[in-house]
Amino acid sequence: MAALDGLEATLRRWGVTTTVDTVAGRPGDFTPSHVMLHHTASPAPKPAPSARVVRDGRPGIPGPLCHVLVRRDLKVELVSRGKANHAGLGGPWQTIPKDTANRYAVGVEIEHEGTSDEPWTPAYMTFCRTVAAAICDHLNIPATRVLAHKEWAPARKIDPYGWAMGAARNQIGIILGAGPRPPDRDLLEEVMALDPNSADYKRLVADVAAAVANTPQPLMGYVGALYKDADNKMTLTQLAQHAAGQAYAANGTAGKALDAAVQARQAADAAVAAVAALRDLLPPVA
Ligand SMILES: [Zn+2]
Repeated sequence: MAALDGLEATLRRWGVTTTVDTVAGRPGDFTPSHVMLHHTASPAPKPAPSARVVRDGRPGIPGPLCHVLVRRDLKVELVSRGKANHAGLGGPWQTIPKDTANRYAVGVEIEHEGTSDEPWTPAYMTFCRTVAAAICDHLNIPATRVLAHKEWAPARKIDPYGWAMGAARNQIGIILGAGPRPPDRDLLEEVMALDPNSADYKRLVADVAAAVANTPQPLMGYVGALYKDADNKMTLTQLAQHAAGQAYAANGTAGKALDAAVQARQAADAAVAAVAALRDLLPPVA
């Protein structure tokens, strides 16, 4: 059985909506032990402008160019189960010998501009990390085996832009440790199924607001993001896992200070957005 057989089932078990439209891999062995993250440098806001190029390749680089494409609408496309041209020259890194990462790494391309012009929303960040955790689960590897292209080839690559990889690995590890969400606990779907004018809807929103008032700031941000995006299928469980990851990063060692600073800033921004979003959603005070 090849390493990525059944990956779509694993992704779905983790709550990730997955379409399968795979192409054959490049010639040669593919024995993945790691996961490598990239950004596509595609213009926002279309969900998946890179869908074609990651399958077909570009001049001088035959496809496939990754295994999993992460779309801006919080879905993924499974692109190939074979060897893909995504890593190029670089390394060595952990057990991956120099210039051989295409053999040993699952390539994940994330649709993103790759500049500060496109903010990483908390919802998108959590989704990307959940996808990485699901792939680790499928390969039965720890989150410490997730690396960035910019770590593999620091002289020529910056992707994924803006990611502090120490914090990212911590958070992916926490998501992985907590396991896939229970399928019957999708609070957002429950909310969306209700009539917004019903008493049940108002009670549910008020319950969430009350819970938020008693939680650390990062969780407030993710709850706010959840309610701002009606298509967002993430659960409060996942949001709480992500918030726990942030708390872990913020309490890390001195060596993690930079990561913690980035996380604290993102949490503060997200908390402000959450308060604004909840204010819009709550029933007016009589
Ligand atoms: Zn890359």
